[in-house]
Amino acid sequence: MVYAIDGRERWLVHNYMKVGETDFDAVDRDACIRTILGVGADFKYDIVSKEDWFGRRLIANKFRERCAFIAGDAAHIWVPYAGYGMNAGIADAMNLSWLLSAHLNGWAPLAILDAYEAERWPITSQVSRFAMSHAEAEIRRRGAVPVEIEEAGPRGERVRQQVGRLAYEINVQQYACAGLNFGTYYDRSPIIAYDGSQHPRYTMDSYTASTVPGCRTPHLWCEDGRSLYDAMGPEFTLLRLDAAVDVTTLETAARNKAVPLKVFDLEPKEPCYEGKLVLSRPDQHVAWRGNHVPDDPAALIDRIRGAADPRLAR
Ligand SMILES: Cc1cc2nc3c(=O)[nH]c(=O)nc-3n(C[C@H](O)[C@H](O)[C@H](O)COP(=O)(O)OP(=O)(O)OC[C@H]3O[C@@H](n4cnc5c(N)ncnc54)[C@H](O)[C@@H]3O)c2cc1C
Repeated sequence: MVYAIDGRERWLVHNYMKVGETDFDAVDRDACIRTILGVGADFKYDIVSKEDWFGRRLIANKFRERCAFIAGDAAHIWVPYAGYGMNAGIADAMNLSWLLSAHLNGWAPLAILDAYEAERWPITSQVSRFAMSHAEAEIRRRGAVPVEIEEAGPRGERVRQQVGRLAYEINVQQYACAGLNFGTYYDRSPIIAYDGSQHPRYTMDSYTASTVPGCRTPHLWCEDGRSLYDAMGPEFTLLRLDAAVDVTTLETAARNKAVPLKVFDLEPKEPCYEGKLVLSRPDQHVAWRGNHVPDDPAALIDRIRGAADPRLAR
């Protein structure tokens, strides 16, 4: 496989070893490069750098040891097919940073940091398994090019269609991974107030917007043309889809614990916005939703700031 680096004179050449081949030094690199590029012995090139690499799936058994946290490749690696490594690392950092900030700014106890591993470990474990099975499917596909692939006539045409369909099905999940990027949800967090609703099915290539607690707060464009994410506050935002709903007691409960909360009135034009109130976290995941303020708003505020008894979660 050849990747353009600068579009003019730098190229990345990937040579894949066959299953069972493990000796990097036994590879005739020059022959591989010439075969992959389709050039003869008279073609001149310079090697800027080289790397021998093998794919693995590794997840740390914990993401935290007291005040030390790991994120990104230090916490999880997988084959960069369905190259979600960077996305997952950034999502780890976003998750950890708001939890740390909440604690350091004094409105969340140390226990809020337990949410990092509780939220990020299951999802990265799931992505790692997907990436690995995806890689295996791609390896199988690459190693099984039918002999009829270049044959003229209906048989060759049929084979080309089959190979093309399979390549599409495998690769669209890798390169158009809306599910991975937007569909990530946290279903076992100690700082989310669940309501028993099912999360939409998690797939890599498709995304179903939802306000089920734990899901990403569904994006929409506001009446004034702003992105909802720009209109929300920097910390918690209570999205109110019916301006008649009184949220004073929830605002007071947040203020009593110094939890930053902005109330934002929203036109209920997206069908995924069920209910009248949606509480969105600083990382734009839903912490709670309902049709009215809960009977014990202080308990909800304690839940979302990590001060509730974790044994009572979900
Ligand atoms: C061949 C290949 C292709 C890939 N393709 C994609 C892709 O298409 N899309 C995608 O999203 N991801 C892809 N990835 C994965 C992606 O590159 C990684 O997931 C991402 O770079 C991880 O970022 P990170 O910051 O966690 O770790 P790294 O990028 O590894 O950064 C860690 C940094 O810490 C430094 N460091 C290490 N130890 C110390 C120390 N003791 N003190 C100070 N510094 C230290 C290292 O030098 C390094 O700069 C690919 C990976 C590979 C190998």
